[in-house]
Amino acid sequence: MRILLVEDDELLGKGIRSGLAQEGGYTVDWLKDGQSAEHALVTEHFDLVILDIGLPKRDGFEVLRNIRSQGVQTPLIILSARESVLDRVKGLDTGADDYLPKPFDLSELFARLRALQRRSAGRAETLIQYGDIKLDPASQSVYQEEGRINISPREFALLHKLLESTGRVLSREQLSQSLYGWDTEIDSNAVEVHIHNLRKKLGSKLIQTVRGIGYMIDREI
Ligand code: CA
Repeated sequence: MRILLVEDDELLGKGIRSGLAQEGGYTVDWLKDGQSAEHALVTEHFDLVILDIGLPKRDGFEVLRNIRSQGVQTPLIILSARESVLDRVKGLDTGADDYLPKPFDLSELFARLRALQRRSAGRAETLIQYGDIKLDPASQSVYQEEGRINISPREFALLHKLLESTGRVLSREQLSQSLYGWDTEIDSNAVEVHIHNLRKKLGSKLIQTVRGIGYMIDREI
């Protein structure tokens, strides 16, 4: 799950980033001003956005208005120290999906991110079920009939992404970006290695290779 974090406060940004890293299954790209955030959001794919309001170069409300008017539908949560009801209403009416006033507890932010993710994938239930596989985003665990599967955070993220997109082919680039973001020090066949491991753990038929395009998990019949 690739998240764009837009926050100019160093301490808070670091806290959120390392917290999400500990949660596992998230890739966080972090920007500190509104202008570069807007550019990234209209040119690249993110699964979720955490957006501060008071930002250098362009404030969060303006970024939000601009990306929504350009058709960017990425689920977005605003973080803001402004506590007035009017600001929250403005944020939501400008196109935010949620609003969390500062200061907040990281566990609440993470629960809200999971909720946004569920809703954007059209789910209300917290567990993702597919055949005999159950994936639990809150505890980052995967179960199959026989019990809990031993799975790495990257494998979890990859499986989660494919299960949220059943019936759609995802290219290697899409999957790699979703797993690694702007982290450049990645092995070019990292995605293949994770897919290979997932097949070993969950059976070879689950993830299909679409030659020349990418990978997919079929819609459940
Ligand atoms: Ca700020």
